[in-house]
Amino acid sequence: MSKMMGLLGGTKKPHAVLIPFPSQGHINPFLKLAKLLHSNGFHITFVNTDFNHQRLVKSRGPNALIGFPNFQFETIPDGLPPSNMDSTQSIPALCDSTRKHCLIPFCNLISKLNHSHAPPVTCIFSDGVMSFTIKASQQFGLPNILFWTHSACAFMSFKECKNLMERGLIPLKDANYLTNGHLDSAIDWIPGLKNITLRDLPGIYRTTDPNDILLDFLVEQIEATSKASAIILPTFDALEHDVLNALSTMFPKLYTIGPLELLLVQTSESTFDSIKCNLWKEESECLKWLDSQEPNSVLYVNFGSVIVMRHQQLVELAWGLANSKKKFMWVIRPDLVEGEASILPPEIVEETKDRGLLVGWCPQEQVLKHPAVAGFLTHCGWNSTLESITNGVPLICCPFFNDQTLNCRYISREWAFGMEMDSDNVTRAEVEKLVKELLEGEKGKEMKKKAIEWKKLAQEATHTNGSSFLNLEKLVNELLFVKS
Ligand code: UDP
Repeated sequence: MSKMMGLLGGTKKPHAVLIPFPSQGHINPFLKLAKLLHSNGFHITFVNTDFNHQRLVKSRGPNALIGFPNFQFETIPDGLPPSNMDSTQSIPALCDSTRKHCLIPFCNLISKLNHSHAPPVTCIFSDGVMSFTIKASQQFGLPNILFWTHSACAFMSFKECKNLMERGLIPLKDANYLTNGHLDSAIDWIPGLKNITLRDLPGIYRTTDPNDILLDFLVEQIEATSKASAIILPTFDALEHDVLNALSTMFPKLYTIGPLELLLVQTSESTFDSIKCNLWKEESECLKWLDSQEPNSVLYVNFGSVIVMRHQQLVELAWGLANSKKKFMWVIRPDLVEGEASILPPEIVEETKDRGLLVGWCPQEQVLKHPAVAGFLTHCGWNSTLESITNGVPLICCPFFNDQTLNCRYISREWAFGMEMDSDNVTRAEVEKLVKELLEGEKGKEMKKKAIEWKKLAQEATHTNGSSFLNLEKLVNELLFVKS
């Protein structure tokens, strides 16, 4: 990366504005990208929504987001009415609101930045699902790089949304289509995706509503993608070779730059470790608990930032973990359970008090790095998947919706470092069986071996001359230096 620093010397400092979709799984990879760009000499403006900014202040204190040289935070309204500060906002409502209400505040922000002490804005890095920013970049004559924070497979499956609709496969004709085998029909025509059924494709496709807001939203976002200056994906070539080959013929300016975390550790940006954007208060004491456990002995359980489950699912999971007799650390967000406080039955807490730790939000990447962690029961969000690969951790995959089903399919069948669990039919017996298999069975050992192999390939991709390293370098040189 030092080569890029040299190239930028002597020119005006480039100024990148980064705007993620306002949910944790999008903010995190954007923050890493911001730090990488900063280490390459960029002035950074990171844009959160007012609502999330308030949550960050609540979880991290009023000074958490100010006072770093050449790294500033700004906010715009998300257009939604005020809501509970302690829980995740509705994703469909946010999708609809950001596309309708964020363009004007975003343009106003760019004008404001151009009249501030900061260098003039030279490029926009926008979330792939915040493509209203394309209009802003056209208005200001700026390159717009769309960052889709998903796997390449998921991006391809989103791209095919319109095609699936035109073929009459989605939306489903009626609710019977959920059970009559329709979801299991093979889809063999999506370039780069092999052995796929409709069931594997993003959960949002299982709708019966012809006016489903998310389908309409997705088609609109994908159409805008062709107008971007470039597209970036947080993945690496060795992991998703076939689908990336197919995508690169459709999008010539496509850059894979993952795992971002591994690129970041090679920079001097550790001084920026304290820049974090957790929407929940992090309970880092859990790391001390892990310190006191045997190496390779703990199952880590976390369902990310968005999933809301039924109380019965929580109870079955809890009994499964308890009956496995294994050590576990389980993150139960205060808003994890539908309509009720996320509280486990007291008898389970009592039964597992010597071997289970419950927390509300943890520093996940540090947890996955910890030698005590032997496996991860996850919903298969893309960040969680990549963070597991980065740390060579095998998985039990319990996907709920969106890209999680497709990630699960690839993890369990193609990449072979995870086992599938059906979130619709969670039973304590199944949970117990899978946990034991992962932590002490032959299959668990094989999956651990595979996870380590993928970790090595991820490291290769991000070392000097690796594909992700070179792609980031190329992106900076070609798109940003030229325009600045
Ligand atoms: N995360 C965390 N602590 C937690 C739960 C989640 O730091 O207790 C982070 C996790 O490391 C990941 C992100 O939140 O970077 C969740 O993103 P993912 O794509 O896995 O799932 P989503 O929340 O979008 O469903």
